[in-house]
Amino acid sequence: MRATEFLLATEKETPADAVVVSHQLMLRSGMIRKLAAGLYTWMPLGLRSLRKVEAIVREEMDRAGAQEVLMPAVQPAELWHESGRWFQYGGELLRLKDRHQRDFCVGPTHEEVITDLARNQLSSYKQLPINLYQIQTKFRDETRPRFGVMRSREFIMKDAYSFHLTADSLQQTYDRMHQAYTRIFERLGLDFRPVLADTGSIGGAHSHEFHVLAESGEDDIAFSNASDYAANVELAEALAPAGERPAASQELSVVDTGDATSVEDVAKQLNVGLEQVLKAIVVRGESEAEDAEDGEAGEPVVLFLRGDHSLNEIKAEKLPGVLSPLQFASEEDVQGIGGVPGSTGPRNLSARCYVDRSAAHMADFFCGANHAGQHHAGFNWQRDAELPEVVDLRNVEAGDPSPCGQGTLEIKRGIEVGHIFQLGRKYSEAMNAKVLDENGKAQTLMMGCYGIGVSRVVAAAIEQNHDDNGIIWPDAIAPFHVGIVPMNLHRSEAVQQATEQLYQDLQQAGFDVYVDDRDKKTSPGVKFADMELMGIPHRIVISDRGLEAGQVEYKQRRGGDAQDIAVDAIVDHLR
Ligand code: ATP
Ligand code: MG
Ligand code: MG
Ligand code: MG
Repeated sequence: MRATEFLLATEKETPADAVVVSHQLMLRSGMIRKLAAGLYTWMPLGLRSLRKVEAIVREEMDRAGAQEVLMPAVQPAELWHESGRWFQYGGELLRLKDRHQRDFCVGPTHEEVITDLARNQLSSYKQLPINLYQIQTKFRDETRPRFGVMRSREFIMKDAYSFHLTADSLQQTYDRMHQAYTRIFERLGLDFRPVLADTGSIGGAHSHEFHVLAESGEDDIAFSNASDYAANVELAEALAPAGERPAASQELSVVDTGDATSVEDVAKQLNVGLEQVLKAIVVRGESEAEDAEDGEAGEPVVLFLRGDHSLNEIKAEKLPGVLSPLQFASEEDVQGIGGVPGSTGPRNLSARCYVDRSAAHMADFFCGANHAGQHHAGFNWQRDAELPEVVDLRNVEAGDPSPCGQGTLEIKRGIEVGHIFQLGRKYSEAMNAKVLDENGKAQTLMMGCYGIGVSRVVAAAIEQNHDDNGIIWPDAIAPFHVGIVPMNLHRSEAVQQATEQLYQDLQQAGFDVYVDDRDKKTSPGVKFADMELMGIPHRIVISDRGLEAGQVEYKQRRGGDAQDIAVDAIVDHLR
């Protein structure tokens, strides 16, 4: 690529609204441009790195036996009603209507769509296991889009989904994905850690996140200095032991409500208003009653709020239409969910409760409001959910002994770049996705899902690889491997010829090459500064004086002195 033909968009000044280094450098080097809050255009420079991340992810997914598909970004609401997430997902879900007033959303993730595909395409155990992935644009209406593409509203994700007949098969693919992720982040040249994680609104029981360690990370990672143990501190808040208040949710109380099956029941039994109940709701669902062993039946249940909404937002007088558990609102009831324009009233709430850890049930609680101000609540039960081992990390400090029994704890900040989940039957049960087993009996599919924030990875790589002068790309994802600065290009024929020859030879050898062929109005100093800002790992300066000695000057972006290298040896030197 020649600078004179390239949409070069470097800037000297650090943009005022960019607080983290990667955001500043992506803007200054001309990788991205902002369109609106959380919406960015990838410029030619940025796109080159993004595509390289995608290519590595694609290669490793293919190597691990996954098959690529491409699903629509816009998804019909019906599927989200089936899974129960039309309510549960909350304000992050961008809902829209088509010209026929049918509800759609812009996909923040694709469990519903892929489960729909699976139930239509898979009929026999012989087709299993299967793992399908895509690299595609997601939209999440984040409460606080920030840090550029690190937490944007529109972003690119690699999401894979696997289907299985048995838990063992799911575990195998999960382990394979864990290995594939490890290879991906190694190839990307990043310092990363896999950590035990909470499953958030995606659901499921077992899950690991992959974190790139960086001070600007939004998560606290606790890990042992003597073993592989590592966990996201968020996990401890989400999985606090039954009977204790998670620190994150002040409104929480724990109450035993006997046989109540609806919010109104609970209110009656406790002799309180509905507002009170929502603050202190306790679920003792049918599944617990069926499966709990003696002595466990009276165990209280913890319900706590996830997301940014407060249960306090629900006002007692606005709660006429609370539905009973396991019952979903009809289509008319749910129109307009997602926030009533101009209203200060309640919006979607979602919460998860762990029903008696020993009975190992998990449930999602959701509650929403429609245009008429009516509210609905319901529960999605996951009967066989196996809850992960929980270590209470809420008040740990660096230097404490570690939960795994080895070494002491270190706490570092991490950027979540990947997340793998064992979903079990959460979606396949709700959406009735089954195949016939060896005996011709219909079995509900087991499922796993595996995400990588492809666009976030680009920013995370910069967080880990930069200095005062700009980005320092790992070779694997550098937009250009080599930058050539020809001195006096427009007056020296020797420099012109040598530059052209080297440009061709390097490309022939497989390098992505950038030649700064701007005329003398752009000083060498500016060219050097731009190349450093853009993070090009290898720089070659071609000058008359060097050529007279048969040499070019070579310098690595990562540091070290400039060296003179023979013109005919430079390509091999870079290989
Ligand atoms: P976070 O905790 O950062 O909000 P998440 O847990 O909500 O992320 P997942 O649902 O696990 O995200 O999605 C898979 C991956 O997509 C994440 O690991 C992350 O790398 C990426 N991702 C999620 N939200 C965003 C976003 N707003 N902008 C860019 N990448 C994102
Ligand atoms: Mg999120
Ligand atoms: Mg997360
Ligand atoms: Mg996640």
